[in-house]
Amino acid sequence: MHSVLSPALVGIYERAVSRSSGEVEFHQALLEVLESISPVVERHPEYIESGVVEVLVEPERQIMFRVPWVDDNGTVQVNRGFRVQYNSALGPYKGGLRFHPSVNLSIMKFLGFEQIFKNALTGQGIGGAKGGSDFDPHGRSDGEIMRFCQSFMSELYRHLGEHTDVPAGDIGVGGREIGYLFGQYRRLTNRHESGMFTGKGVLWGGAQVRTEATGYGAVFFMQEMLNTRGEAIDGKTAIVSGSGNVAIYAIEKIAQLGGRAITASDSSGYVVDEAGIDVELLKQVKEVERGRISDYVDRRPGARLVTNGRVWDVPGQLAFPSATQNELLIGDAQRLVANGVLGVAEGANMPTTPDAVELFQDAGVLFGPGKAANAGGVATSALEMSQNASRQRWDFGTSEGRLHSIMKDVHRSAYEAAEHYGRPGDYVVGANASGFRRVADAMIAQGLI
Ligand code: GLU
Repeated sequence: MHSVLSPALVGIYERAVSRSSGEVEFHQALLEVLESISPVVERHPEYIESGVVEVLVEPERQIMFRVPWVDDNGTVQVNRGFRVQYNSALGPYKGGLRFHPSVNLSIMKFLGFEQIFKNALTGQGIGGAKGGSDFDPHGRSDGEIMRFCQSFMSELYRHLGEHTDVPAGDIGVGGREIGYLFGQYRRLTNRHESGMFTGKGVLWGGAQVRTEATGYGAVFFMQEMLNTRGEAIDGKTAIVSGSGNVAIYAIEKIAQLGGRAITASDSSGYVVDEAGIDVELLKQVKEVERGRISDYVDRRPGARLVTNGRVWDVPGQLAFPSATQNELLIGDAQRLVANGVLGVAEGANMPTTPDAVELFQDAGVLFGPGKAANAGGVATSALEMSQNASRQRWDFGTSEGRLHSIMKDVHRSAYEAAEHYGRPGDYVVGANASGFRRVADAMIAQGLI
């Protein structure tokens, strides 16, 4: 059974699309959410009558700005910066910054829109936002990265604050960039306002487990899904795409739970390591040396590099798409199903195309959408904000325990909402329905206009 758009939502969808012509990724995310809340609005017509959906689909505020900086050759460069402050009904705007050449308003809006429901699902009192720039950090020197981050923050700082908008990292924005961005905010405001950014270094207000949280959380979510069928991670082979912090820490947690992740990838290809990815070597290559996945293969006997194929060709029972949006296509889903995949948990945001999601669900594969499966990152950001507000520092075990119980709650909310709306096992409907109701109820309570 597939989700179809309720007739009550068709006009809302069409008006939102006409206000955002050409924003294809945003339209994809919008349709996915509206289709999966269709059973909710059919059962509760007040969500249509109140106008809340009509209001919710439009961002509260969209900021676009110029980011001029000087490269190492002394040449002036100009990039475009974005912050889409989508919804603040449940708490301050919260969501990452992405630095990647593909960044545009459509991608920012799709990510910001998804973030609203993801953040609501965590139950941590955070609104939804996303930001970033089309700047490509790849191959840039430390000095160039620092100057870019300083220029970016020189504009964005006026829109941020611990009670207003709290960014974090995303693709292309890790510990180094967060340091430069936070430093510039501190200089401009003369405030060491820890709670205005998450993913900070642990020496200056960062939380234990924030780096690991998205990857660990995706594996915890998979564990919960498998549990519903009496299965476990132990003894299973996993196919992981990506080699950023989501992929690295998913691989680490899979191994800790007795599974074996045998792949990782970047834009130059993918590696297959049947013995199980050596996570320390992968961290050395990607986090310390900022190298390519081929450097891993050069140092790891038995591992092989594939430069012209699809990582989803490799057989395994579990799949963790953890690179970027629309990276797992219908043909990939067909091969994974033919190879006997049991569960897919999205570490990235919207990595699976809608037709591939449908195929997994029709084939009875457990499918955890990103807004539930990768919610551990932003949930741990909220834990960082709590520690900053109370000037506490929790140890690794305490933080990981909190993350684990939040992921169990996220799973339970999505699972129960899917049952409640007559779609048992459909985590896409469950996650969207549960997240939507929390945000919509808060918006109605606070007055829509
Ligand atoms: N970029 C992450 C996400 O997509 C984390 C956001 C945050 O911690 O604010 O959820």
